[in-house]
Amino acid sequence: MSRIKLLPETLASQVAAGEVVERPASVVKELVENSIDAGARAIEVGIQRGGMSRIRVVDDGCGMDRDDALLSLERHATSKIASAADLAAISTLGFRGEALPSIASVSRFRLTTREPGAIAGTEILVNGGRIETVRDGGEAPGTQIEVRSLFYNVPARRKFLRSETTETRNIEHQFFLQALAHPEIGFSLVREDKIALQLPTTTSLRDRIRDLYGVELLEDLLEISAPDRGGAQVRGWTGRAGVSRQTRAQQFVFVNGRAIESGILSTALREGYHTALMRGQFPVTFLFVDLDPREVDVNVHPAKREVRFRDPAGVRQAIVEAVQRTLESGRVDWRERFRAPAAASRVEPPAPPAAPGGGTTSASSQIAGGTAAVSSQTSSAAEPPPPLGKTASSFEIMGRDSARPSTFASAPTPQPDQQFQIIGVLNRLYVLMENSDGLVLVDQHAAHERILFEELRRRMEEQGVPSQRMLLPQIFSLPPRDAEWVERNVATLQKMGIGIENFGANSFRVDSLPTFLEVADAAEFLRKVIDELKTTSRSSSPLRLGEDMIAKTVCRHAVKANDPLRYPEIEKLIRDLLACDLPYCCPHGRPTMIQITHAELEKKFGRKV
Ligand code: ADP
Ligand code: MG
Repeated sequence: MSRIKLLPETLASQVAAGEVVERPASVVKELVENSIDAGARAIEVGIQRGGMSRIRVVDDGCGMDRDDALLSLERHATSKIASAADLAAISTLGFRGEALPSIASVSRFRLTTREPGAIAGTEILVNGGRIETVRDGGEAPGTQIEVRSLFYNVPARRKFLRSETTETRNIEHQFFLQALAHPEIGFSLVREDKIALQLPTTTSLRDRIRDLYGVELLEDLLEISAPDRGGAQVRGWTGRAGVSRQTRAQQFVFVNGRAIESGILSTALREGYHTALMRGQFPVTFLFVDLDPREVDVNVHPAKREVRFRDPAGVRQAIVEAVQRTLESGRVDWRERFRAPAAASRVEPPAPPAAPGGGTTSASSQIAGGTAAVSSQTSSAAEPPPPLGKTASSFEIMGRDSARPSTFASAPTPQPDQQFQIIGVLNRLYVLMENSDGLVLVDQHAAHERILFEELRRRMEEQGVPSQRMLLPQIFSLPPRDAEWVERNVATLQKMGIGIENFGANSFRVDSLPTFLEVADAAEFLRKVIDELKTTSRSSSPLRLGEDMIAKTVCRHAVKANDPLRYPEIEKLIRDLLACDLPYCCPHGRPTMIQITHAELEKKFGRKV
């Protein structure tokens, strides 16, 4: 007796639905994608009880005639591909011909559709996959699909649904994705018969982002600028350096208008941000990658959530470059913000703190010092005014003695019109400054890390980092695996100014260290560095490893918080910082400066509501 049976159509559709229709949000996704493919200019999504009791998608697209409408409910029926060649170059969102039959097999389903020129439309009612009614329907041109009682006949699935709130949130997420991918389409979301969101058609992604997230977010974003170099084209908006989130919730990536999840693209993004992103944080990004459909295989995931690139390395490179360029361009308008108020253009050293008898100004939260306007025309060789902090300075990343010329020549000269006004130092850590937008707080420690990091990187690329001979070379041994790591990275270490060489089995000799380091015990220092690097180096390229290493060592050896700075030192610090490629965050992605605008202050003081 034969034991193998062909599944009845309806059952086969229910099986397929298991893959395509996971939850109400998947229904919304499939229906909206169909509407977009149908050339709709306006799409309305209506949901009730998290989509569990009803989902309705209405569009003004091309509609279907009666035959097509019936056919659309058959499995593997699609108007979007016809041959294997088409499958290799998909330019529509759909192509599998499975969504409608799948959804119809697990719900009470109603389809009304009408072609723009047609006299009458068609209405089809389907119940758990069985077509029950087909008749003329008189709706407006376009298509309207209503899905009620999702999974009513698949109790197992129903059990997996989450709370109404969660399902609503999932739907909204899906809705946002589609709306972001298609600013040229007007979208509206209706929840429990009330309009929750209405997005007018627009020609710009910027406007769509604003309509979805508000203008404040735009302030944090930069438009991605990437040259057209053939291959993958990258566009969109992405967070300024230092702007990040704890989750991926605002990291949107689209490939040919399709929202996707891609490890390759996430990694590329992260790499583009590199030190502009804190460890464990995610960028805010609306990234669009457009490329020849033949270059990307979208037929790898039943819900079309993943894609495969023919040239992943090329796509990765395009993204890394685009992000890097964009972050650099953001630096220019950051500079703009540092034009001080007109009145501040005088150069005026800070008044000495009123400290009769000395030492009475050390309350830690006090703002030290007077005000000083700094412009790049100011000679840094000006008479050093009294210290801002308590006593002797130990502004120390480049040498204990501040009179000694710094080890590193200062970075490229800032623009002559770049002006800002230093007000003082808070808690011996934050430099307070005024610019035309309001108050700026600079984290000294983070600022130093950034400056030193960039200086080091430049030196490494050019002629090498200056190093200083130790009085006595030190010999030390390491556990075999660490020793192996050092052997592999000797060249990088030397390039960084660490004079290290192999000295017999698992032993090493250090005889010089970079001049900026202040370490008592070279071996101890190296052990710590190795420990840190072992955890980061696994997948990184040699260059990245070098940079990570710099970032890490710099972080720990840069000036300590609470070191009092003298006025010229602060001035130099700020000027060096503004000359950096990425001035707004430290090598670990923490912000170096925070702006508090006049508007924010006015709000806080109740001057404005
Ligand atoms: P696919 O989108 O993969 O082709 P579907 O099952 O989602 O498969 O849809 C089947 C077919 O029904 C589509 O190819 C399209 O021709 C037609 N169709 C579906 N939804 C709409 C719509 N909103 N407007 C016009 N045609 C539609
Ligand atoms: Mg479809």
